[in-house]
Parts: sequence; structure tokens; C-alpha cells
Amino acid sequence: MRTFDYERPDMLADALALMADADGAARPLAGGTDLIIRIRDGSIRPRTVVDVKGIAEFSRDIRIEDGWLRIGARTTMTDLLRDDRIRRDYTALAEAAAYVGSVQIRNRATLAGNICNASPAADTAPALLAFEARVVAVGQRGRRVIPLDDFFVRSGVTTLAPGELVEAIEMPVRPGRRGSVHARRTRRRGHDLASVTLAVALDEDGVTRVSYGSVGPRPVLAIDDTGLLADPAAGDDAVRDRLDELFAAAAPSPTSMRASPEYRLAMLRVMGLRAVQDARKRIAS
Ligand SMILES: Cc1cc2nc3c(=O)[nH]c(=O)nc-3n(C[C@H](O)[C@H](O)[C@H](O)COP(=O)(O)OP(=O)(O)OC[C@H]3O[C@@H](n4cnc5c(N)ncnc54)[C@H](O)[C@@H]3O)c2cc1C
Repeated sequence: MRTFDYERPDMLADALALMADADGAARPLAGGTDLIIRIRDGSIRPRTVVDVKGIAEFSRDIRIEDGWLRIGARTTMTDLLRDDRIRRDYTALAEAAAYVGSVQIRNRATLAGNICNASPAADTAPALLAFEARVVAVGQRGRRVIPLDDFFVRSGVTTLAPGELVEAIEMPVRPGRRGSVHARRTRRRGHDLASVTLAVALDEDGVTRVSYGSVGPRPVLAIDDTGLLADPAAGDDAVRDRLDELFAAAAPSPTSMRASPEYRLAMLRVMGLRAVQDARKRIAS
């Protein structure tokens, strides 16, 4: 492992200066559950590691602000699971967080780190996409808001500019009822990255957002605004046909060790139908 400088700034301005000084060779550190592994295996060789946990302006809160539920950069999976609003109104996100690693991992792993790592298999990504999340990024030039669908590029790559940090992740607060579900498929029980992930969020107004991951270089969001998926009278065959249209962007890697493309696509269809059925039950209950 190559040596690096470790910095733990207290103030955001200092953190941004450290990020800028390193000229692209600095890496933010939150829980370290991805970063440390990648530094150890040599796939990332930062000159400086900037620990964001001490930054006073970065919160660990989950709070409502101007119609958005704001999740601070230091919020962990365990924090999400403990929050009543997340469990009640963003159920698929709570379900996704509950799948991440083990208790020890969830106590350290942040939501921000999960999306910044940009793994196509990241468990929280489909739920966040289905809930229309956006990312608040901050850099030396100021703040900007990035819709999550514009944030992911491919594994390990996002549209964050060099030197920018994620300050928060926000989801709109919707007044109406919603049924949401997270589903995942793994090779085996216990710790394993997902072979397929999927989230469905079905809104009272008949719009259903379906998002899926681990079946291509980045997680995908597809929207059914025909009302068909939300319609309890629509039969399974009609739902399957509509899901097939929404799954058009699925393009699993043929070289992955975890599952064949055929298996992933077949599972996506099965999981999609079940998730729609469960989301309908949840919105009706
Ligand atoms: C045993 C094990 C099991 C796991 N199981 C799962 C699983 O089932 N599902 C799953 O989705 N993940 C899983 N993970 C992956 C991991 O726990 C998550 O991706 C975690 O959420 C990353 O968050 P972190 O705080 O640890 O980030 P870190 O490791 O600190 O950082 C991850 C990346 O994000 C960047 N980063 C962190 N914070 C910021 C910020 N504020 N602004 C900009 N960039 C930032 C870092 O530079 C790095 O590139 C597992 C990991 C382990 C070790």
C-alpha cells in the first residue's frame, strides 16, 4: 500500500482547500467501508485522504427543509433505519439500508459514500432514484444540486467535479400515499453484493417509478405514467409486458463472475412483478 497523508479538517472551507490542493489526488473518507478496501488493494492511490467526519457543516441529521427530506453526508445506514419517517414514507430505502453488509458495516457506512462509490450494485441507489433524490454538492465555487439520475456515470464514476464533496442527499416530501419496495438477489445468503437490485415506488396519483441496478454499468430509472402498474385491476400479464418495456435499458455484463446476463434478466422480471404486487398491497393497507 502506498503511503498517503491523512487530514481531518473541522471546517468545510479547509476540507475544500485540501481537496483542491491535491490536484485530483485527494479522496474523501467517510465510513471507509469502500475506500479503505480500494486503497489496500491498490485500485485507488490517493496522495491525501480527507476525512469528512469532522466537518462541522456536514451533518448526521435527517431533517425536512423546504419540502425536501435532507439526509446529511455523515448519515449512516443505521441512522436511516432508526428514522421513523424513512421507515414509513421511504420504506424501500429503509429496506435497502437494512441489506447493506452487517450491523458493524451499517454503523459506519454512509448513504453519501454508497452513492459516491457508484457501484452498479449499490443497494440504496434504486430506492433513491425511485424517490426522485437529488445530490447537494459543494466545491470551492459554491453549491449545486444534481438530480441523482444525472449523478451516476458508470462503476466508480459520478458527475461530481474534481474537488467537490457531497454535502447532503435530498428526497421530495410527497403528501399523498405511496407504496414502495426494495428487492435484491444475491448468489448466496449472508454478505454478498447483489446480482440484481430493484425498487418500485407507486404513488397515489398512479405514477410508478421502477429503478434497477446490477444489470448494467449504472443504476437505471424508468417511469410508468400510464397508470397501468398502479392499477390493481391490471393483470399479471399486462404488468409483465409493461415491465419489459421499462427494463429495456438493462444490459448485464457478459463477463461478470456473479451471474450470467440471462439469469439477471430473468430475475429482474420475476422481482419486478413481485415488487409491483407488494407495492400495491402497501399503498392499499
Ligand atoms: C463487508 C462489506 C459488505 C458490504 N455490503 C454491501 C451491501 O450489501 N450493499 C451495498 O450497497 N454496499 C455494501 N458494502 C459497501 C459499503 O458499505 C457502502 O458502499 C458504503 O455505504 C460506503 O460508505 P462509506 O461511508 O463507508 O464510504 P467510504 O468508503 O468512506 O467512501 C466511499 C466512496 O465515496 C467517496 N465519498 C465518501 N463520502 C463522500 C462525500 N461526502 N463526498 C464525496 N465523496 C465521498 C469516497 O472518496 C469513496 O470514493 C459493503 C462493504 C463491506 C466492507
